[in-house]
Amino acid sequence: MTGLSDSFQRPINYLRISVTDRCNLRCVYCMPEEGVSLMAHRDILTYEEIYTVAKVAAGLGITKIRLTGGEPLVRLGLPDLVKMLAGIETIDDISMTTNGVLLAQHAAALKKAGLRRGNVSLDTLKPERFNRITRCGTLEDTLAGIEAARSARLDPVKMNMVVMAGVNDDELPDFAAKTITAGWHVRFIEHMPVSGSGDIKLVSVGEMKKRIESLGSLEPSRLDVGNGPARYFRFPGAAGTIGFITPVTEHFCYQCNRLRLTADGKLRPCLLCEDEIDIRETLRSGTSPDELKSLIEKAIACKPQGHRLAEGSGRQGRPFSQVGG
Ligand code: SAM
Ligand code: SF4
Repeated sequence: MTGLSDSFQRPINYLRISVTDRCNLRCVYCMPEEGVSLMAHRDILTYEEIYTVAKVAAGLGITKIRLTGGEPLVRLGLPDLVKMLAGIETIDDISMTTNGVLLAQHAAALKKAGLRRGNVSLDTLKPERFNRITRCGTLEDTLAGIEAARSARLDPVKMNMVVMAGVNDDELPDFAAKTITAGWHVRFIEHMPVSGSGDIKLVSVGEMKKRIESLGSLEPSRLDVGNGPARYFRFPGAAGTIGFITPVTEHFCYQCNRLRLTADGKLRPCLLCEDEIDIRETLRSGTSPDELKSLIEKAIACKPQGHRLAEGSGRQGRPFSQVGG
Protein backbone atom coordinates (compact mmCIF):
# COMPACT_ATOMS: atom_id res chain seq x y z
CA MET A 1 0.00 0.00 0.00
CA THR A 2 1.37 3.40 -0.96
CA GLY A 3 -1.01 6.07 0.40
CA LEU A 4 -2.93 8.36 -1.90
CA SER A 5 -2.83 12.09 -2.18
CA ASP A 6 -4.34 14.53 -4.66
CA SER A 7 -2.79 17.38 -6.63
CA PHE A 8 -3.11 19.66 -3.61
CA GLN A 9 -1.21 17.24 -1.33
CA ARG A 10 -4.32 16.25 0.56
CA PRO A 11 -4.10 12.62 1.74
CA ILE A 12 -7.10 10.62 0.47
CA ASN A 13 -8.03 7.68 2.67
CA TYR A 14 -11.82 7.77 2.88
CA LEU A 15 -14.31 6.29 0.40
CA ARG A 16 -18.00 7.16 0.67
CA ILE A 17 -20.13 4.63 -1.09
CA SER A 18 -23.72 5.36 -2.05
CA VAL A 19 -25.43 1.98 -2.20
CA THR A 20 -28.77 3.20 -3.56
CA ASP A 21 -30.53 6.34 -4.77
CA ARG A 22 -33.83 5.11 -3.28
CA CYS A 23 -35.16 6.59 -0.05
CA ASN A 24 -38.11 5.96 2.24
CA LEU A 25 -38.30 9.69 3.19
CA ARG A 26 -38.55 12.93 1.22
CA CYS A 27 -36.76 15.47 3.43
CA VAL A 28 -37.55 19.05 2.43
CA TYR A 29 -33.86 20.02 2.25
CA CYS A 30 -32.86 17.05 0.13
CA MET A 31 -35.59 16.14 -2.35
CA PRO A 32 -38.55 17.76 -4.04
CA GLU A 33 -41.93 16.46 -2.84
CA GLU A 34 -42.50 14.43 -6.00
CA GLY A 35 -39.11 12.74 -5.55
CA VAL A 36 -36.42 12.60 -8.23
CA SER A 37 -36.06 10.35 -11.23
CA LEU A 38 -34.69 7.00 -10.18
CA MET A 39 -31.77 5.04 -11.56
CA ALA A 40 -32.66 1.85 -13.44
CA HIS A 41 -31.93 -1.23 -11.31
CA ARG A 42 -29.52 -2.58 -13.92
CA ASP A 43 -27.45 0.61 -13.60
CA ILE A 44 -26.89 0.19 -9.88
CA LEU A 45 -23.69 -1.56 -8.86
CA THR A 46 -24.04 -5.01 -7.35
CA TYR A 47 -22.45 -5.74 -3.97
CA GLU A 48 -19.74 -7.73 -5.77
CA GLU A 49 -18.97 -4.72 -7.97
CA ILE A 50 -18.84 -2.39 -4.97
CA TYR A 51 -16.55 -4.84 -3.21
CA THR A 52 -14.22 -4.98 -6.22
CA VAL A 53 -13.87 -1.20 -6.26
CA ALA A 54 -13.36 -1.04 -2.49
CA LYS A 55 -10.68 -3.72 -2.60
CA VAL A 56 -8.71 -1.96 -5.32
CA ALA A 57 -9.14 1.37 -3.49
CA ALA A 58 -7.92 -0.25 -0.27
CA GLY A 59 -4.85 -1.47 -2.13
CA LEU A 60 -4.17 2.15 -3.02
CA GLY A 61 -4.49 3.46 0.53
CA ILE A 62 -8.19 3.84 1.35
CA THR A 63 -8.68 2.71 4.96
CA LYS A 64 -12.12 4.09 5.82
CA ILE A 65 -15.49 3.50 4.22
CA ARG A 66 -18.86 5.11 4.83
CA LEU A 67 -22.08 3.71 3.39
CA THR A 68 -24.73 6.20 2.45
CA GLY A 69 -27.47 6.79 -0.14
CA GLY A 70 -30.37 7.58 -0.72
CA GLU A 71 -31.23 5.58 2.33
CA PRO A 72 -28.71 2.73 2.61
CA LEU A 73 -31.05 0.54 4.68
CA VAL A 74 -33.68 0.32 1.95
CA ARG A 75 -31.23 -1.81 -0.02
CA LEU A 76 -31.81 -5.46 0.84
CA GLY A 77 -29.09 -7.43 2.56
CA LEU A 78 -26.88 -4.49 3.53
CA PRO A 79 -25.17 -6.52 6.30
CA ASP A 80 -23.89 -8.83 3.53
CA LEU A 81 -22.09 -5.91 1.91
CA VAL A 82 -20.73 -4.76 5.28
CA LYS A 83 -19.36 -8.25 5.89
CA MET A 84 -17.66 -8.31 2.48
CA LEU A 85 -16.08 -4.91 3.07
CA ALA A 86 -15.03 -5.80 6.61
CA GLY A 87 -13.12 -8.73 5.13
CA ILE A 88 -10.75 -6.35 3.32
CA GLU A 89 -7.74 -6.47 5.55
CA THR A 90 -6.63 -2.85 5.42
CA ILE A 91 -10.07 -1.30 5.91
CA ASP A 92 -10.11 -0.30 9.56
CA ASP A 93 -13.37 1.65 9.80
CA ILE A 94 -16.78 1.07 8.25
CA SER A 95 -19.56 3.48 9.12
CA MET A 96 -22.97 4.43 7.76
CA THR A 97 -25.18 7.50 7.46
CA THR A 98 -28.88 6.68 7.75
CA ASN A 99 -32.21 8.30 8.47
CA GLY A 100 -32.65 5.61 11.14
CA VAL A 101 -36.15 4.52 10.09
CA LEU A 102 -35.11 0.89 9.53
CA LEU A 103 -32.20 0.86 11.94
CA ALA A 104 -34.00 -0.86 14.82
CA GLN A 105 -34.49 -3.90 12.56
CA HIS A 106 -30.90 -4.03 11.35
CA ALA A 107 -28.55 -2.53 13.96
CA ALA A 108 -27.52 -5.82 15.59
CA ALA A 109 -26.90 -7.58 12.25
CA LEU A 110 -24.91 -4.62 10.95
CA LYS A 111 -22.74 -4.59 14.05
CA LYS A 112 -22.15 -8.32 13.78
CA ALA A 113 -21.20 -7.93 10.11
CA GLY A 114 -18.53 -5.37 10.97
CA LEU A 115 -20.17 -1.95 10.91
CA ARG A 116 -18.34 0.12 13.49
CA ARG A 117 -20.48 3.18 13.93
CA GLY A 118 -23.41 5.12 12.59
CA ASN A 119 -24.63 8.65 11.97
CA VAL A 120 -28.37 9.21 12.17
CA SER A 121 -30.04 12.19 10.52
CA LEU A 122 -32.53 13.73 12.90
CA ASP A 123 -33.77 17.28 12.41
CA THR A 124 -36.41 17.61 15.09
CA LEU A 125 -37.63 16.03 18.31
CA LYS A 126 -41.25 16.98 17.62
CA PRO A 127 -43.38 14.22 16.04
CA GLU A 128 -45.54 16.44 13.83
CA ARG A 129 -42.61 18.50 12.67
CA PHE A 130 -40.67 15.32 11.89
CA ASN A 131 -43.51 14.25 9.64
CA ARG A 132 -43.54 17.66 7.96
CA ILE A 133 -39.77 17.83 7.38
CA THR A 134 -39.48 14.26 6.10
CA ARG A 135 -42.89 14.50 4.39
CA CYS A 136 -43.74 10.93 5.39
CA GLY A 137 -41.65 9.72 8.34
CA THR A 138 -42.50 8.90 11.95
CA LEU A 139 -40.22 10.25 14.68
CA GLU A 140 -40.75 7.15 16.81
CA ASP A 141 -39.09 4.94 14.18
CA THR A 142 -35.93 7.03 14.02
CA LEU A 143 -35.73 7.31 17.82
CA ALA A 144 -36.09 3.52 18.07
CA GLY A 145 -33.31 3.22 15.48
CA ILE A 146 -31.04 5.45 17.55
CA GLU A 147 -31.68 3.41 20.69
CA ALA A 148 -31.03 0.15 18.81
CA ALA A 149 -27.77 1.54 17.40
CA ARG A 150 -26.66 2.60 20.87
CA SER A 151 -27.58 -0.79 22.34
CA ALA A 152 -25.70 -2.55 19.52
CA ARG A 153 -22.70 -0.36 20.37
CA LEU A 154 -22.36 1.27 16.98
CA ASP A 155 -20.23 3.80 18.85
CA PRO A 156 -20.29 6.67 18.72
CA VAL A 157 -23.77 7.16 17.28
CA LYS A 158 -23.88 10.77 16.07
CA MET A 159 -27.09 12.64 15.42
CA ASN A 160 -26.93 15.01 12.43
CA MET A 161 -29.33 17.94 12.38
CA VAL A 162 -29.58 20.19 9.33
CA VAL A 163 -30.38 23.56 10.89
CA MET A 164 -33.02 25.53 8.97
CA ALA A 165 -34.08 29.05 9.87
CA GLY A 166 -37.73 29.21 10.87
CA VAL A 167 -38.15 25.44 10.46
CA ASN A 168 -36.24 23.78 13.32
CA ASP A 169 -33.73 26.30 14.66
CA ASP A 170 -35.86 26.83 17.77
CA GLU A 171 -34.86 23.29 18.79
CA LEU A 172 -31.12 23.96 18.98
CA PRO A 173 -31.19 24.12 22.80
CA ASP A 174 -33.32 20.93 22.99
CA PHE A 175 -30.78 19.00 20.91
CA ALA A 176 -27.89 20.50 22.85
CA ALA A 177 -29.56 19.47 26.13
CA LYS A 178 -29.55 15.86 24.92
CA THR A 179 -25.74 15.87 25.21
CA ILE A 180 -26.21 16.34 28.96
CA THR A 181 -29.36 14.33 29.65
CA ALA A 182 -28.80 11.40 27.28
CA GLY A 183 -25.10 11.56 26.35
CA TRP A 184 -25.95 12.13 22.68
CA HIS A 185 -23.32 13.29 20.21
CA VAL A 186 -25.12 15.93 18.18
CA ARG A 187 -23.83 17.69 15.08
CA PHE A 188 -25.38 20.81 13.67
CA ILE A 189 -24.99 21.13 9.90
CA GLU A 190 -25.40 24.20 7.76
CA HIS A 191 -27.99 23.76 5.06
CA MET A 192 -26.38 23.53 1.62
CA PRO A 193 -28.24 25.16 -1.27
CA VAL A 194 -27.97 22.31 -3.76
CA SER A 195 -30.21 20.67 -6.35
CA GLY A 196 -33.59 19.70 -4.84
CA SER A 197 -32.77 21.30 -1.50
CA GLY A 198 -35.64 23.77 -1.36
CA ASP A 199 -35.74 27.43 -0.46
CA ILE A 200 -34.29 27.27 3.02
CA LYS A 201 -32.43 29.93 4.97
CA LEU A 202 -29.13 29.05 6.59
CA VAL A 203 -28.39 29.72 10.27
CA SER A 204 -24.81 30.79 10.91
CA VAL A 205 -22.68 28.94 13.44
CA GLY A 206 -22.31 32.13 15.47
CA GLU A 207 -26.08 32.29 15.77
CA MET A 208 -26.32 28.55 16.58
CA LYS A 209 -23.76 28.91 19.35
CA LYS A 210 -25.51 31.92 20.81
CA ARG A 211 -28.76 29.98 21.12
CA ILE A 212 -27.07 26.90 22.55
CA GLU A 213 -25.10 28.89 25.10
CA SER A 214 -28.39 29.91 26.68
CA LEU A 215 -27.89 26.53 28.45
CA GLY A 216 -24.31 27.20 29.59
CA SER A 217 -20.87 27.87 28.13
CA LEU A 218 -19.33 25.44 25.69
CA GLU A 219 -15.76 24.30 25.93
CA PRO A 220 -13.72 22.91 23.00
CA SER A 221 -13.74 19.15 22.90
CA ARG A 222 -12.79 16.22 20.72
CA LEU A 223 -14.64 13.21 19.47
CA ASP A 224 -11.91 10.71 18.84
CA VAL A 225 -13.60 8.53 16.28
CA GLY A 226 -14.34 10.13 12.93
CA ASN A 227 -12.95 11.39 9.67
CA GLY A 228 -15.07 14.43 9.30
CA PRO A 229 -14.75 18.15 9.39
CA ALA A 230 -16.83 18.88 12.50
CA ARG A 231 -15.51 21.16 15.23
CA TYR A 232 -16.49 19.77 18.62
CA PHE A 233 -17.52 21.33 21.91
CA ARG A 234 -19.20 20.16 25.08
CA PHE A 235 -20.86 21.49 28.18
CA PRO A 236 -18.58 20.92 31.19
CA GLY A 237 -19.26 17.43 32.55
CA ALA A 238 -21.58 16.37 29.69
CA ALA A 239 -21.11 12.85 28.33
CA GLY A 240 -22.07 13.91 24.81
CA THR A 241 -20.54 16.41 22.42
CA ILE A 242 -21.77 19.16 20.11
CA GLY A 243 -20.26 19.42 16.65
CA PHE A 244 -20.62 22.11 14.02
CA ILE A 245 -20.26 21.37 10.32
CA THR A 246 -19.99 24.47 8.17
CA PRO A 247 -19.73 23.52 4.49
CA VAL A 248 -20.98 26.93 3.33
CA THR A 249 -19.64 29.67 5.58
CA GLU A 250 -16.30 28.12 6.57
CA HIS A 251 -15.68 25.37 4.11
CA PHE A 252 -13.21 22.63 4.95
CA CYS A 253 -12.10 21.68 1.44
CA TYR A 254 -8.44 22.19 2.39
CA GLN A 255 -8.67 19.07 4.59
CA CYS A 256 -10.96 16.97 2.38
CA ASN A 257 -9.82 13.33 2.41
CA ARG A 258 -12.76 11.86 0.46
CA LEU A 259 -13.55 10.09 -2.73
CA ARG A 260 -17.12 9.05 -3.56
CA LEU A 261 -18.61 6.14 -5.41
CA THR A 262 -22.17 6.72 -6.62
CA ALA A 263 -24.76 3.95 -6.71
CA ASP A 264 -24.59 3.90 -10.51
CA GLY A 265 -20.85 3.43 -10.59
CA LYS A 266 -19.29 6.86 -10.98
CA LEU A 267 -16.27 7.99 -9.05
CA ARG A 268 -16.99 11.48 -7.84
CA PRO A 269 -14.02 13.45 -6.54
CA CYS A 270 -16.16 16.14 -4.83
CA LEU A 271 -19.73 16.10 -3.51
CA LEU A 272 -20.33 19.61 -4.77
CA CYS A 273 -18.70 19.49 -8.21
CA GLU A 274 -20.31 17.61 -11.04
CA ASP A 275 -17.21 15.93 -12.54
CA GLU A 276 -17.47 12.16 -12.43
CA ILE A 277 -15.56 9.24 -13.87
CA ASP A 278 -17.61 6.26 -14.97
CA ILE A 279 -16.26 2.92 -13.81
CA ARG A 280 -19.36 0.77 -14.24
CA GLU A 281 -18.68 -0.09 -17.86
CA THR A 282 -15.05 -0.85 -17.10
CA LEU A 283 -16.12 -3.05 -14.19
CA ARG A 284 -18.64 -4.90 -16.34
CA SER A 285 -16.28 -5.50 -19.21
CA GLY A 286 -14.10 -7.81 -17.15
CA THR A 287 -11.46 -5.25 -16.37
CA SER A 288 -8.14 -5.92 -14.67
CA PRO A 289 -7.46 -4.44 -11.23
CA ASP A 290 -4.78 -2.28 -12.87
CA GLU A 291 -7.35 -0.54 -15.08
CA LEU A 292 -9.57 0.12 -12.09
CA LYS A 293 -6.60 1.36 -10.14
CA SER A 294 -5.73 3.91 -12.81
CA LEU A 295 -9.36 5.15 -12.92
CA ILE A 296 -9.31 5.66 -9.15
CA GLU A 297 -6.01 7.51 -9.42
CA LYS A 298 -7.42 9.61 -12.25
CA ALA A 299 -10.47 10.54 -10.13
CA ILE A 300 -8.23 11.62 -7.27
CA ALA A 301 -6.05 13.64 -9.61
CA CYS A 302 -9.21 15.53 -10.73
CA LYS A 303 -10.21 16.49 -7.19
CA PRO A 304 -10.86 20.23 -7.27
CA GLN A 305 -9.24 22.51 -4.71
CA GLY A 306 -12.63 23.50 -3.33
CA HIS A 307 -16.30 24.05 -4.06
CA ARG A 308 -17.98 27.37 -4.83
CA LEU A 309 -21.20 26.91 -2.92
CA ALA A 310 -21.02 30.31 -1.28
CA GLU A 311 -21.07 31.86 -4.78
CA GLY A 312 -24.26 29.94 -5.59
CA SER A 313 -22.80 27.18 -7.76
CA GLY A 314 -24.65 24.19 -6.29
CA ARG A 315 -28.20 24.31 -7.64
CA GLN A 316 -27.56 22.43 -10.85
CA GLY A 317 -26.54 18.84 -11.08
CA ARG A 318 -27.42 15.62 -9.35
CA PRO A 319 -29.24 15.73 -6.00
CA PHE A 320 -27.52 14.42 -2.85
CA SER A 321 -29.74 11.33 -2.83
CA GLN A 322 -28.03 10.26 -6.06
CA VAL A 323 -24.45 11.06 -5.23
CA GLY A 324 -24.45 10.15 -1.54
CA GLY A 325 -24.62 13.26 0.63
N1 SAM B 1 -30.61 8.92 3.89
C1 SAM B 1 -29.48 9.01 4.72
C2 SAM B 1 -29.64 10.10 5.74
O1 SAM B 1 -30.53 10.93 5.58
O2 SAM B 1 -28.87 10.13 6.69
C3 SAM B 1 -28.18 9.17 3.98
C4 SAM B 1 -28.15 10.05 2.77
S1 SAM B 1 -28.40 11.78 3.11
C5 SAM B 1 -28.33 12.47 1.50
C6 SAM B 1 -26.84 12.15 3.86
C7 SAM B 1 -26.78 13.40 4.68
O3 SAM B 1 -26.92 14.52 3.82
C8 SAM B 1 -27.84 13.51 5.75
O4 SAM B 1 -27.22 13.71 7.00
C9 SAM B 1 -28.63 14.73 5.34
O5 SAM B 1 -29.09 15.43 6.46
C10 SAM B 1 -27.60 15.52 4.55
N2 SAM B 1 -28.18 16.48 3.61
C11 SAM B 1 -29.05 16.23 2.62
N3 SAM B 1 -29.36 17.38 1.96
C12 SAM B 1 -28.67 18.38 2.59
C13 SAM B 1 -28.57 19.79 2.41
N4 SAM B 1 -29.23 20.43 1.44
N5 SAM B 1 -27.75 20.48 3.24
C14 SAM B 1 -27.07 19.87 4.23
N6 SAM B 1 -27.13 18.53 4.44
C15 SAM B 1 -27.91 17.80 3.65
FE1 SF4 C 1 -33.71 10.50 2.15
FE2 SF4 C 1 -31.54 11.09 3.54
FE3 SF4 C 1 -32.36 12.70 1.56
FE4 SF4 C 1 -33.82 12.55 3.78
S1 SF4 C 1 -31.69 13.31 3.62
S2 SF4 C 1 -34.61 12.45 1.67
S3 SF4 C 1 -33.54 10.48 4.38
S4 SF4 C 1 -31.62 10.65 1.33
